[in-house]
Amino acid sequence: MRNVLVVISGPSGVGKGTIAKILTERNGYALSVSCTTRAPRTGEVDGREYFFISRDEFLRRVKENGFLEYSEHFENFYGTPKDFVEKQLKQKDVILEIDVNGGLNVKKTYPQAILVMIVPPSLEEVRKRLIKRNTETEDKIELRMKRISYELGKQSLYDYSVVNDDLETTVERLTEIINEEKSRKN
Ligand code: ADP
Ligand code: 5GP
Repeated sequence: MRNVLVVISGPSGVGKGTIAKILTERNGYALSVSCTTRAPRTGEVDGREYFFISRDEFLRRVKENGFLEYSEHFENFYGTPKDFVEKQLKQKDVILEIDVNGGLNVKKTYPQAILVMIVPPSLEEVRKRLIKRNTETEDKIELRMKRISYELGKQSLYDYSVVNDDLETTVERLTEIINEEKSRKN
């Protein structure tokens, strides 16, 4: 069976990080750690959630072609380190948790990448989850809410959409998708 590169995207607060963490712990996939210029949130550890780097360092790596893709949101840069992904893919399946534009850019470089959009059961549920996570100010929650329709608008360009209502059901569905894709011939 081939190793697959799986991109998980969807609105902020929909549950991507939670899903990706369970999938990697349970199924042994590699989770790519992105670089970002945003400040760490309370409890985030450098090298675990992200590599937190300066804007200058980020732009230097862009010049060196060190990212598989990168984009800017909420006034910060985010990028997927190319070396890590290429190395890991030789040994196992790799999960990227990145935004829709990043996902579509990855597909241009790696057409065999599998793009999965995580969809919220409702807009109000996303707001509830962002409030529950307790990491953003009210203003930042509103900014994230405004971006939801833009992200969900790209759903038709993704290979799969999965509604994250019950977490366990979502994780099982993703595992099923990945197993099916792994056993494909092409
Ligand atoms: P994202 O990475 O998409 O921004 P998170 O994984 O941080 O989202 O999840 C946001 C919040 O929603 C977290 O508090 C998480 O525990 C919670 N959450 C994730 N999935 C579900 C679910 N299926 N049902 C209820 N709460 C969820
Ligand atoms: P947050 O600041 O909430 O951790 O992430 C904000 C957004 O950046 C999310 O939509 C997340 O998926 C996206 N993101 C995280 N890492 C990357 C990356 O490497 N590349 C791209 N394009 N987006 C990323």
